[in-house]
Amino acid sequence: MINFDTFYIRCPRCGSHLEGHLVRSELVNKSVLFSDGKTLNDNYITEPQKLIICPACSHWYWIEKYEEPVVSYEKPDATVYNWNHWRFFGVHFNNNQGKIALVNHYKKALEILNGDRDKELYIRRLMWWAFNDLVRNNYQRTLKYLMSGQMSFNVWRKNRMKLHEGRIIFRKFRDDYVANMRELLVLLKSRYTPDDEEYEASMLEIIELYREMGEYGEAQKILNTIPRRTHYIARIEREVKKKHDFVFLVVG
Ligand SMILES: [Zn+2]
Repeated sequence: MINFDTFYIRCPRCGSHLEGHLVRSELVNKSVLFSDGKTLNDNYITEPQKLIICPACSHWYWIEKYEEPVVSYEKPDATVYNWNHWRFFGVHFNNNQGKIALVNHYKKALEILNGDRDKELYIRRLMWWAFNDLVRNNYQRTLKYLMSGQMSFNVWRKNRMKLHEGRIIFRKFRDDYVANMRELLVLLKSRYTPDDEEYEASMLEIIELYREMGEYGEAQKILNTIPRRTHYIARIEREVKKKHDFVFLVVG
């Protein structure tokens, strides 16, 4: 049983009510972390959705913080759009076309940003994750995964075909994927200084970006400046040494 808090957002243009959920972090059963930083709690992404497209009037708006009065925790006395209508712009994650549709939403968002660097950083990070979603579950392709009993043979086989298709699409979009990572790298480098709370996390993100771009020398150079070896850093370093550039499952 997943434990949510339910919230409601009101479209600033047409007044439609959107219903969504926040997983209560203290009640999470399973947390999954990937090398690009994407984290899932009970299968739900922990990063809040800041950019919303109203399912009723297609108005684009931004929510910086999920706090009152922008969001309300009281059910409105009106019809509400459920989460599937607007969560990640209503795309379906269970096929590769939905994942590409999500990338395209982010591309469009970048066109209308008006030079806001923090918003650009947020969008480019989510776009990076969206590209990686095409190959994120590659670990499920292995026989070892089938043997773990988490999928029946038929489900595993179908999933494997989908993952194979995802890899082909991922390769096709390689230039866009790398170009986005380069821009994200520039944004991260200019955004944080050692005095910032986010500095250390941004350094790890920079290492991971270099690794995924195939620039292992640059990734190793920064790794050499980090004295601590957490499980996460050790795993990244191992992949850098092997010259592997795919996103991978760190914990889960
Ligand atoms: Zn609206």
